Amino acid sequence: MIFNMPGFESIFPGQADMNDTILRHDWRIEEIEALLDLPFNDLLFRAQTLHRAHFDPNQVQVSSLLSIKTGACSEDCGYCSQSAKYNTDVEPERLLPVGEVIEAASAAKAKGASRFCMGAAWRNPTDKNLERVIEMVEAVHGMGMETCITLGMLTEAQAQRLSEAGLDYYNHNLDTSPEFYGEVITTRTFEDRLDTLAHVRNAGINVCSGGILGMGESRRDRARMLQELANLPRHPESVPINMLVPVEGTPLYDAEGIDHLEFIRTIAVARLLMPESYVRLSAGRAEMSDEAQALCFLAGANSIFYGERLLTTDNPETDADRQLFNRLGLTMEASVESMVKAAKGSCRKSA
Ligand code: SF4
Repeated sequence: MIFNMPGFESIFPGQADMNDTILRHDWRIEEIEALLDLPFNDLLFRAQTLHRAHFDPNQVQVSSLLSIKTGACSEDCGYCSQSAKYNTDVEPERLLPVGEVIEAASAAKAKGASRFCMGAAWRNPTDKNLERVIEMVEAVHGMGMETCITLGMLTEAQAQRLSEAGLDYYNHNLDTSPEFYGEVITTRTFEDRLDTLAHVRNAGINVCSGGILGMGESRRDRARMLQELANLPRHPESVPINMLVPVEGTPLYDAEGIDHLEFIRTIAVARLLMPESYVRLSAGRAEMSDEAQALCFLAGANSIFYGERLLTTDNPETDADRQLFNRLGLTMEASVESMVKAAKGSCRKSA
């Protein structure tokens, strides 16, 4: 649904019509910083206006996330409870059996999730493990849900294999700016991440990539991370913006954190740079007030994770989310598959 409104020229100079919004891939850092610097009300107005040009402003896509292999990861991501290098409360678990994954996916579907995301704590999957995950992907796909997985780095051949298996989305976050990256992770490079994203994109799988705020990075780092995402040859279809949930035992436990208004500003700028992407309000929602979450939706966030656990950290209770949706007049977006089925059903009825 496309909404147009008077005065558009004065909000977005140079763009005669919202329907013609140009998807840019050449953002300069000064432009992004200037957006972050806007008065809060102006920034949110601009973001919400553009959001309405591309999405139903009262619909939120809902995903559910399951950890299919927990802990004992060889990487050293400074925020992560699952790294074997840190002493945290996480109990390592082997790869789940397919039956357990199907059970969790049908419970998530019953609660309204349209996409089921599966995360494994690996540097990269072996080909053998990849085949086991593909069984899960096929089973969840067969239930009429969209599938997303996050397994670490992929080779070109592995991305192709996942594409052939019908995977909808692959998540691989950039995490932060290239400049701040070394403060967070040393066991893989920023370039490694870009390579995996390129393999996923070239294989024809939808890309889910975003980052984490509140790790001690500067506003410029946040701008640079958004610049890297927006200047990819094609914008990620899904852009998760996480707020660090500090985990005791990890190096970033004492990180400075981020002011919620600054977090909301970053969401708004993500919306402005990537108008057709789903911007997902991800980790950190449990620490936010309902009012802060409402402002995130106003700023253009239109996707959330639903369910009490986000891999190993807490997420708001599903009942609390339902109540918040009711209070804000938001509805959950149906999966593409169920929308197609519904359309076919109504065609049959009218035939
Ligand atoms: S974020 Fe992923 S790759 Fe990094 S330590 Fe955690 S599980 Fe491993």
